[in-house]
Amino acid sequence: MENRTEISELGEFGLIDHLTKTFSSRRGETVMAIGDDAAVLGTGDEKLLVSTDMLVEGVHFDLSYTPLKHLGYKAVMVNVSDICAMNAEATHITVSIAVSNRFSVEALDELYTGIRKACENYRVDLIGGDTTSSAGGLVISITAVGRAKESAIAYRNGANERDLLVVSGDLGGAYMGLQILEREKAVFQEAPSAQPELTGFDYILERQLKPEARIDVVKLLGDLNVKPTSMIDISDGLASEIFHICKASGKGVMIFEDKLPIHGETSKAADEFGMNPTTCVLNGGEDYELLFTIAQEDFEKIKNEQMIHVIGYMTAPEDGCNLVDKAGGQHAIKAQGWDSIAEG
Ligand code: ADP
Ligand code: MG
Repeated sequence: MENRTEISELGEFGLIDHLTKTFSSRRGETVMAIGDDAAVLGTGDEKLLVSTDMLVEGVHFDLSYTPLKHLGYKAVMVNVSDICAMNAEATHITVSIAVSNRFSVEALDELYTGIRKACENYRVDLIGGDTTSSAGGLVISITAVGRAKESAIAYRNGANERDLLVVSGDLGGAYMGLQILEREKAVFQEAPSAQPELTGFDYILERQLKPEARIDVVKLLGDLNVKPTSMIDISDGLASEIFHICKASGKGVMIFEDKLPIHGETSKAADEFGMNPTTCVLNGGEDYELLFTIAQEDFEKIKNEQMIHVIGYMTAPEDGCNLVDKAGGQHAIKAQGWDSIAEG
């Protein structure tokens, strides 16, 4: 009988590993291939970075509440963020779309208005792409190219024991913004005449619909003369990204619940939904903030910066990944969340 393995048995990362493990780099230019936020190429001091991401209608976005202009902007941000996550600057993008005749030229103009705005704001040039038809929904695939000096590039694998773990901005907002949008969509489906209840949540709705890549944080670290020892962007939620840094660096981590940066609107929304804000931070996604480690000696340089927050420190690998809650209790962080904390 023929063997059949379900994709779900491997999971996303297991599948990528399974499909790519038999490939090896043949070229001297390949400094980093698979396994970081972007590939790193080049033989000189100045490196080229390449990253690609695909957004699929019905999986990554819902056009019933996502304006096409915002979608275009976000699709670019997702990719620029992966270049920022190498402590580098994005310079160019290609944009490929698969569309059905359900979309008018005017609709696609809206999408490209958002893409153009992102290119303007981040000083990125659109240099190509591909256009094809789709039998189903809209698909957007973007590749971002960036550059950085070799000495500035931060990989996921450089964290050292006792390094400080730092995060930019605030977390969990994009996830709670999505919950609000999904709730109002459900209400609208029940009663199409109902007005959506979106007031008081402007900030988290913007976090979900119009995220920004943190090139400002990359520039700040450069100005402060702080080179992160490791770095990743937060696309999947803090817990998952912490695991990536710990695994790649072969370290453990201790984070502190009372240090997690959470916006007031995020807490308010979590309250309304009977959710624990900390769980939203750990498991929610799409914040596109930067998570990185710095040497303890660099603390003096960053301690007064409002944009970034120390949330913990790296430990020995045998100590594992742990969170100290507000009452001082210690919990192992799970791939999805943390143990023994009741929801709500
Ligand atoms: P990110 O979340 O930062 O976008 P991913 O988790 O999507 O990164 O990907 C992890 C790594 O696996 C990256 O180096 C990415 O380029 C690589 N990768 C993902 N899918 C494939 C694939 N189908 N073939 C080859 N490499 C892949
Ligand atoms: Mg990434």
